[in-house]
Amino acid sequence: MDFELEELAGASCVHSGKKILVATDATHCTKCGRAVLQKHKDEHESKCSGAGAIKRVAHDYDEEPPVEWTTKVIGFVATGVFVAALGGGLMMASPEQPPGELAKPMPTKKLGAGFGLMALGAVVGVAGFSSERKKQLAKK
Ligand SMILES: [Zn+2]
Repeated sequence: MDFELEELAGASCVHSGKKILVATDATHCTKCGRAVLQKHKDEHESKCSGAGAIKRVAHDYDEEPPVEWTTKVIGFVATGVFVAALGGGLMMASPEQPPGELAKPMPTKKLGAGFGLMALGAVVGVAGFSSERKKQLAKK
């Protein structure tokens, strides 16, 4: 079972809609888990499709709905990765040097730009992803 059981006393019978005053007068439908009066149980269960079950509410981090990889989410992450890779490539690229000359030290400007792009890429990817994720969670 993956649904919460309703408190019997005080609930309304899912079949007749009547208020259940005493818990022993009622039971839970084995299909939908809703409270139903004993006398209506068989009739209700024969028709019950299990719809309207009270699903357990996600309250643990484990039970968070999975990320929906919408075009927007993928776009943000892809852009972030692309920009970061651009920065990484900029830093990795060896300075042009004519053959026979000693390797020049990496220009500071280029290093800075590389780091900047990598940081920017990370920010775009992470910020975009988490804002989209927040919207997704808020919808649930
Ligand atoms: Zn039912």
